Amino acid sequence: MSRDGLRRARRIVVKVGTSLLAPRDGGVHVRRFAELADEIAGLVANGLQVVLVSSGAVGLGVRRLGLTERPASIPAKQAAAAVGQIDLCRRFERAFARHDLLVGQILLTHQGLADRERFLNARQTLHALLASGVVPLINENDSVATEELRVGDNDLLSAMVVNLSGADLLVMLTDTDGLFDGHPNDPGSRRIAEVPQVTRALLEVADSRPADPAAQPGAAVGTGGMRAKLEAARLASRYGVPTVIVDGAHRGAIGRILHGEDTGTHVHASSRQLSSRKHWIASLKPRGSLHLDEGAVRAITERGRSLLPIGIVEVEGQFGRGDPVRCVAGDGEEIARALSAYDAREVELIKGQRTPRIEPLLGYTNGDAVAHRDDLVLL
Ligand code: GLU
Repeated sequence: MSRDGLRRARRIVVKVGTSLLAPRDGGVHVRRFAELADEIAGLVANGLQVVLVSSGAVGLGVRRLGLTERPASIPAKQAAAAVGQIDLCRRFERAFARHDLLVGQILLTHQGLADRERFLNARQTLHALLASGVVPLINENDSVATEELRVGDNDLLSAMVVNLSGADLLVMLTDTDGLFDGHPNDPGSRRIAEVPQVTRALLEVADSRPADPAAQPGAAVGTGGMRAKLEAARLASRYGVPTVIVDGAHRGAIGRILHGEDTGTHVHASSRQLSSRKHWIASLKPRGSLHLDEGAVRAITERGRSLLPIGIVEVEGQFGRGDPVRCVAGDGEEIARALSAYDAREVELIKGQRTPRIEPLLGYTNGDAVAHRDDLVLL
């Protein structure tokens, strides 16, 4: 797929990494807020809609609190985010005000988004903001989300926001010009311009490359490295949306993408687009795993069937009814993500059994399928 299609984008999710706004030396890239607002305001003036997913709450909070480094403890980090989120908002609010644009803040948690009703609610809010010409400014609600209920990084969050907002392009602004086949600072390494599909091999290449070339993986200012970006891009692609990961330190980066220029790494949209609801299921954090036998794998992958108890050989995790689970084949590969109609204890009791046995074994039934095909997404 050429980059020409990117010219047609009308609604864009722009994700900005912490390193672009609040670098590790404890400073703030004051001008960058203005530059981003200038560029986004230009797009809005041309009839495009932009949703901004910005990191930087913790980074800015650390600075406001006068700390010398990011705190290690979670409550201290959450406190820093509480302080920094206000600073982040205020800076963007001021920058956009120069263009007579309002920003509207939405703080999301994974737990909130995993609830279908709240997800739909957030979607309506987002659409209402866009309809009023407001620039939505989104971050994870770091101050309240406990570690296991967090989205984890804003890369993934931005891919979820693609679905929430019905965007047709995801732009990730970071501090390298996309993915490289070696270390980005190494003169011998080349930029990978086009990624038709995010493969396992590619994720491994990315694994060893921190998003910030000067930083060690995991020790960087931001939380998501290049792998997180590619995983997010893969999730966006499943929604039929392309992603461009690009160096956001240069002015006009988004405009160049929209002109179809060869910049950054372009992850192509998948030709098989999931519905919004299926995409939502694919984006949920699994709370357990169901290991399937070969017959079940074939039934769901080749024949589009529901997952019945008879095909389940092993159950892992403590999940409740309606929770997302991995469906794993014999080789250990996750082939599908699904919402389980039974909780872990119930599946443990009915696994390997024919459906008429569900009621005698449990004393009730919640339907024949452990995961109905409408609640199951092939990956
Ligand atoms: N939400 C965090 C923040 O604003 C950052 C998460 C991320 O960088 O992925 O500081």
